[in-house]
Amino acid sequence: MRPSKRLERIPPYAFAQLERRIAEKRAAGVDVISLGIGDPDRPTPPLVVEAMQEAVTEPETHRYPTNRGRADFRAAVCDFYERRFDVALDPEREVIPAIGAKEAIFNLNLAFLDPGDYALAADPGYPVYTGGPWLVGAEPVLMALQPEHGFVPDLGAIDEDVARRAKLMFLNYPNNPTGAVVPEGFFERVVEFARAYEILVVHDNAYSEIVYDGYRAPSFLATPGAKEVGIEVFSLSKGYNMTGWRCAVVLGNAEAVATYWQLKTNIDSGLFEAVQLAGVAALSPDADSEVASMNELYRRRRDLVCEALQGIGVQVRPPHGTIYVWAPVPEGFDSSAAYCEHVLEQAAVVLSPGAIYGPAGEGWFRISLTTPDERLLEAVQRLGALAA
Ligand SMILES: *Cc1c(COP(=O)(O)O)cnc(C)c1O
Repeated sequence: MRPSKRLERIPPYAFAQLERRIAEKRAAGVDVISLGIGDPDRPTPPLVVEAMQEAVTEPETHRYPTNRGRADFRAAVCDFYERRFDVALDPEREVIPAIGAKEAIFNLNLAFLDPGDYALAADPGYPVYTGGPWLVGAEPVLMALQPEHGFVPDLGAIDEDVARRAKLMFLNYPNNPTGAVVPEGFFERVVEFARAYEILVVHDNAYSEIVYDGYRAPSFLATPGAKEVGIEVFSLSKGYNMTGWRCAVVLGNAEAVATYWQLKTNIDSGLFEAVQLAGVAALSPDADSEVASMNELYRRRRDLVCEALQGIGVQVRPPHGTIYVWAPVPEGFDSSAAYCEHVLEQAAVVLSPGAIYGPAGEGWFRISLTTPDERLLEAVQRLGALAA
C-alpha cells in the first residue's frame, strides 16, 4: 500500500494522539480528567432534539439533500444573522449549508488554492488552517497572535511578497485557543489588507454565541466592505451543543459561496435535511434562553478555573468568550508539552499544550470548560496540590 505524499506532509491530528493516551491510562485504571478537548458536555437543547425527532419522521428528509440547502434553512440563517449581528444576507446567493465548519474550512482550501499558493493562518489556531493548505499542496504562512497585540496578527509585519502570493486568510474571533475577542478596529484593518492584496478572508465563527460579562461578539460580515473580500463559516457545534450533528453554514461573498458550492457538488451530497430542520429550531429566538443558560454555566466554570489558577500563581485573564482558558506555563518547564506531560503523569489531568496549535502557542496551555463542575473542581484541586 502506498499512501499519498500529501498525507506525509501533515503531522498526526494532535487530538487523535491525545485520545489514545487517555484511553491507555484509563485502561490501566487511572482516573483521568480530560480538560483537553473542546466538546460541550451538556446535551443539545430539547427544542432542537424535538425538531429533529419530528423531521426524521418526514419521508421528504430521507432523500438526497441539495448542496444549496433547504430554502427554510437558508431563510432561518438569514433571519438569525439579521437579528443577532445586524447583517443582511441574500438567502439565494450568500448562504450555503456545510457539514460542519471543519468540512467547510478544509474544502475552501481545495476550492481556492493551487499548489504553491499561500494561505495566511492564525498561529496559534485551529489545526485545519495549516493541515488544509498542506493537504492541497499549498503553503500555510503563520501569523503569530501575540498577547501584547491582543492576540491578533500584526498585518503590517506580513512580508509584501507573501501577501501578494496569499489567496486565503484564516481568522477566528472569539478565538480558539486564546479565548481572545476581536479588538475594536481590527476587522476594518483586515478588510483593507484583503482588498490591497486580493485575499479571500475566511472568518471562522465557531464561538460568537459563547460570551460573558455582557460582551456581544460581532460577525466579521458586519464590517463595512467585508462581503466584498470575505466569507464567514458559522458553526452550530459549540454554541448549541451540537458537535455530533455536523451543522454549519458558509456565508458572505456570493462568488466565494458559489465556488465553494461548485466544489462541494463534486465531493459530498449536502447536509441531511433533518439536521437542517434541527438547525432552523436552534437558530430561532426560542433557543436564546438555552444559549443564555449555557453561558451562565460556562461563566461559573471559567471563574472557578481562573480563581484556582491564580491561587497557584498562574497569571491568567478570564476570557470574554469561548469555552477555553489560555494560561502561561508555570516557570520551571522547558515547554508546554513538558508541563502538560508532567500534569498528566502526576495529577492525571489532561491539558492541551499550546504548541499543538502552532509555534506561537509555545509557553501556554489551554483548559477547556466542557467538563461537569465537580470534575472540573477536582481537576483544579489536583493542579493546586501539584503546585503546593
Ligand atoms: C470546534 C471548532 C471548529 C469545528 O466546528 P465544526 O462545525 O464542529 O466542524 C472550527 N473552528 C474552530 C475554531 C473550532 O474551535
